[in-house]
Amino acid sequence: MARPHLRLASEAPAPSPRPIIEMAGVSKTYRTRDGDVPSLRPIDFTINAGEFLVVVGPSGCGKSTLLKMVAGLLPPSSGEIRVEGRVITKPHGDVGVVFQQPLLLPWRSVFSNVMMPVEVKHLDRDSHAKRAHELLKMVGLQDFERKYPWQLSGGMQQRAAICRALVHDPKIVLMDEPFGALDAMTREKMNVELQTIQRATGKTVLLITHSIPEAVFLADRVLVMSERPGSIAAVYDVDIERPRTLDVMADPKFVALTQKIRHHFYAHGGLD
Ligand code: ADP
Ligand code: MG
Repeated sequence: MARPHLRLASEAPAPSPRPIIEMAGVSKTYRTRDGDVPSLRPIDFTINAGEFLVVVGPSGCGKSTLLKMVAGLLPPSSGEIRVEGRVITKPHGDVGVVFQQPLLLPWRSVFSNVMMPVEVKHLDRDSHAKRAHELLKMVGLQDFERKYPWQLSGGMQQRAAICRALVHDPKIVLMDEPFGALDAMTREKMNVELQTIQRATGKTVLLITHSIPEAVFLADRVLVMSERPGSIAAVYDVDIERPRTLDVMADPKFVALTQKIRHHFYAHGGLD
């Protein structure tokens, strides 16, 4: 059944889990002039359609490497990654990517930045312009479409970058420490907003963070990685009802889970 672009997940009947990203024996060793850098041990993991999966792990354990391989920007050294059943060998249109820095082009307006993927992929301009307007409205930037990135706060720039990642309606959004450069209060607001966006669009999200509370707040499941070469140390279900408000951080379930995850890192010297 075709999904409308924007709808509340709560309006849909509960779907049975359907794998959308499958990793089978995926490992990565970087070959450099100074020798091999084993970055990721073979990983087997499946992410389901519509799931919000958050990865936490120590610096250098291969989180960004994993995300780049799912995006098709890097080939695995072994194993394969399938998205919707297709083996990923090159960059593909099923994903939108958001990095720590918004990476907006300073000479383009906010609207024109959001439309970048439409130009690069030669997609239909009119239908995607409509979608860009809808997305910018959803994140509260409707009055800033004609402004330039430097006229926006860091949080607003990152919201624009999220719209850019969604404009071609990818099934999957990959986010690599998307709020890492923001101040603590803006970051919390963005967490609430991202939950709203994910619920409204039904996207599958794979997000990397250093913040354990952010991970638990956002995730359906948290994947905890071990030190480099990274492997899966644990996977936790976050059994907390949605929509979640920031008050949930005081919930005993939330506190217990953040503590459990933190204990993984005390043993290994902490996150960076
Ligand atoms: P994380 O995102 O978890 O901090 P990365 O995936 O960026 O970690 O990197 C994992 C490991 O691989 C690190 O030790 C890093 O130094 C190494 N690495 C990353 N990119 C390259 C590269 N292009 N060449 C060689 N080594 C790399
Ligand atoms: Mg990284």
